Amino acid sequence: MKKVLVLGATGSIGTSTLDIIRNMKDDFSVAGVTANSNQSKLTELEKEFGCKSSLTKDEGIDGIKRLIDATKPDIVVNGIAGSAGLLPSKIVLDSKIDLALANKETVVMAWPLIKKLADSNDTNIIPVDSEHSAVFCLINQCQKKNVSEIIITASGGPFRNYSKEQLEKVTLSDALKHPTWNMGQKITIDSATLANKGLEVIEATRLFDMDTDHVKVVVHPQSLVHSIVRTNDGMLYAQISDPDMKHPIFQSLVYPENKSNYLKPFDLFDHELNFYKPRYEDFPMLSYAYSAAEKNGGYTIAFNAANEVAVDAFVNSKIGFLDIAKITEKVLEKDFTATPSDFEQVFEIDRLARKYAGECL
Ligand code: NAD
Ligand code: MG
Repeated sequence: MKKVLVLGATGSIGTSTLDIIRNMKDDFSVAGVTANSNQSKLTELEKEFGCKSSLTKDEGIDGIKRLIDATKPDIVVNGIAGSAGLLPSKIVLDSKIDLALANKETVVMAWPLIKKLADSNDTNIIPVDSEHSAVFCLINQCQKKNVSEIIITASGGPFRNYSKEQLEKVTLSDALKHPTWNMGQKITIDSATLANKGLEVIEATRLFDMDTDHVKVVVHPQSLVHSIVRTNDGMLYAQISDPDMKHPIFQSLVYPENKSNYLKPFDLFDHELNFYKPRYEDFPMLSYAYSAAEKNGGYTIAFNAANEVAVDAFVNSKIGFLDIAKITEKVLEKDFTATPSDFEQVFEIDRLARKYAGECL
């Protein structure tokens, strides 16, 4: 029986995690739940699972620390949205607890510091982002030394076939209609601009220690192949399932085991699988992310921060869809060459990039 602490329990990842635990009571229990708002939902979950909770809007990072100390979970699922997920990841690793990591910002903003912490505390970081969960699983099976290339799949988002002219006119509600995945608002907008795939390219280079030349993106509209690795002999190995985050979340919860579960097994018949080149020119966020990953220093922090500010402005009807990329491009023209040596410096860079992005609005 594994005791699971769920950070961001009211969100899309949190809800899927709780669904797994609800359906597999012999394997998992809920140690605690957190959310930023919605106390009534937290109270409901406390009653249902007989667990503790923290409203992070009021308690902040102290609430998470208190829950970890009080409940001593076996694993923590970090399903917090955005850069707010970084410090909670640090706290989990500081407490020497395994981290099932959906919060990609943790990796994008501070991988060297996070990796060092995990290594020195002998804890596992298990990727939950579907593409990285797939790659993690494939690399474990093929062995790292045999893998020459990682190929991350992208649905292409709702605007995959839109012309430049059409892209200029898209609205918030258009951007929120994801063709294959049902996710939180921020990541759904990021999927429409391909900023999400950009964050995932950065995430893959960091998690799997590969340079950008060996991390490729392929547009695969059906979202059935979750990622692919190429081995030295040129062969491709892919992971396939329905597009349901419960699969990668489940895999992270049982790691390093592989167990049967209640989820519907994928039926191979009557599907088409298509693969296309990304349209880098029309979706420049992907190129900016590649360049940030290559330049290193504080550039990936700046990419993430600028995008968060721009997406927030787009959601609040202050800017148009294409302005998200324009603002990010402007911010990345500034100097972010200095590499942060501690978490405080990471947040300094984050604040600076947000200030620049704010000036662009
Ligand atoms: P969401 O918006 O649905 O939920 C976010 C959760 O985080 C909520 O419970 C919210 O209360 C909490 N939260 C928000 N701001 C917070 C703050 N400042 N402090 C503490 N808690 C806060 O988000 P989501 O779609 O579930 O995504 C969560 C993370 O997982 C993101 O990093 C996202 O990129 C990643 N991810 C999500 C999916 C998906 O299918 N939703 C897939 C892959 C990766
Ligand atoms: Mg993903």
